[in-house]
Amino acid sequence: MNDPASNNPTIFGKIIRREIPAQIVYEDDDVLAFKDIAPQAPVHVLFIPKHVHIATLDDARAGDAVLLGKLVLAAAEYARREGFAQNGYRVVMNCRDDGGQTVYHIHLHLLAGKPLGHGFGG
Ligand code: AMP
Repeated sequence: MNDPASNNPTIFGKIIRREIPAQIVYEDDDVLAFKDIAPQAPVHVLFIPKHVHIATLDDARAGDAVLLGKLVLAAAEYARREGFAQNGYRVVMNCRDDGGQTVYHIHLHLLAGKPLGHGFGG
């Protein structure tokens, strides 16, 4: 577990340190959320851990369970707060190349704002 303030080389580390701008929409003690720069749906927000750098879901361990739960619950809270929880939404976590992961700081995608269908594409 590394402190992103000192050792997180990804673009998300720069966002956490406020070195580059982002449209931050949610923040609590452990989680930061901001709008995806290339949205795949009318609502597309990324939820990331602020103080722990886990590169991928495959790098997460049992000790990270609470933090991973906080990411999911932060997304659900945001959906309720923004008023689209009743309509529904999707949360996705991509892992490594075949999962489509491009930024190696673990993150949860929240997608909403239109019917997203049943498929997961490829
Ligand atoms: P993934 O492909 O699952 O690793 O998701 C990474 C996401 O980060 C992509 O959807 C990108 O559009 C998004 N992204 C990359 N750089 C930025 C940035 N500077 N601000 C906001 N979103 C970004």
